[in-house]
Amino acid sequence: MEIIDLRSDTVTKPSREMREAMFTAEVGDDVYGEDPTVNRLQEKVAEILGKEAALFVPSGVMANQLAIKTQTQPGDEVIVESDSHIFNFETAGAAFLSNVQLCPVEGNNGILNAEQVAQAIRSKVYYNPKTSLICLENTHNKAGGTIYPLEEIQKIYDLAQNKNLALHLDGARLWNASVATGIAPIEYARFFDTVSVCFSKGLGAPIGSALTGTREKIESARKYRKIFGGGMRQVGILAAGALFALDHNIERLKEDHDKAKWLAKELSNLPGMNLDLNSVQTNIIIFHMSGRSESAEEIISQLKAKGVLISEMGISTLRAVTHLDVSMEQIQKASATIKSLLGN
Ligand SMILES: *Cc1c(COP(=O)(O)O)cnc(C)c1O
Repeated sequence: MEIIDLRSDTVTKPSREMREAMFTAEVGDDVYGEDPTVNRLQEKVAEILGKEAALFVPSGVMANQLAIKTQTQPGDEVIVESDSHIFNFETAGAAFLSNVQLCPVEGNNGILNAEQVAQAIRSKVYYNPKTSLICLENTHNKAGGTIYPLEEIQKIYDLAQNKNLALHLDGARLWNASVATGIAPIEYARFFDTVSVCFSKGLGAPIGSALTGTREKIESARKYRKIFGGGMRQVGILAAGALFALDHNIERLKEDHDKAKWLAKELSNLPGMNLDLNSVQTNIIIFHMSGRSESAEEIISQLKAKGVLISEMGISTLRAVTHLDVSMEQIQKASATIKSLLGN
């Protein structure tokens, strides 16, 4: 049976061409700073995002956790959106690694506005926690790949400047936001002290993320990366995959967005379906099922038996993600399968 895997854009496998680029990569010991392919990737990512420096890391979680570690002191507080990846899917890493407290603020479709952030900033009374960092997520994963309006980012930036707070962007899918809006990554990145990006989501590389920022912050992150066990040796093999992804797989993200919009529209009229088409702005479809006898978990296992994989994001919340390893034909098949299961 053909399996159509829409659980995540992380399930993609490196293409033959990407594997060839990895196979032929020039390598060296990156703990000594001697891997030419890693150095090339870091320079390129820093340039794309308009930052002084970039650090290649094994995962998006490590990139975010390094941003928190380098921009807080133990006991500080970090403002995050309540559905954010940092708050929900990083295993309480901020508490564990940086000894900070997260202050979750509920946004609108994952998007915070400047007033909401302003209200969450603590006054400087000695018994309050000290707010030191604000983290935004663009696109927002759990809200369905939603995009931050640039004007709102600018307002939050002005606020952060005014209050002397650091601003971090979890840009795991910043590429998707950029392709969907036509706004270059650098235009988003300029408002942030640090930006993390992933190569292993929609871009299709097997492994890897980067953290970018000032040279000073990235040097500090390099030390903590080593402490966190992320100092890697001949890792140019992986950096070559990421470089290939940057060169070949950004523009095509538009296809993933078109497929997601098509699929969302097809599914939106099913009985009990609660799917906000306005929230489908990139490659993620989040939907809620109400008034059905099956739980999200049961729907997932019934679809799995028919060869369509989607993921659970809550008791009645499901997620389907499009990516470079699913064709339009497969999306049509998945749509037919879901409709036949949930159509009555
Ligand atoms: C996937 C993801 C990350 C990082 O995940 P890793 O699996 O550690 O690479 C961070 N933020 C967001 C929004 C993500 O979707």
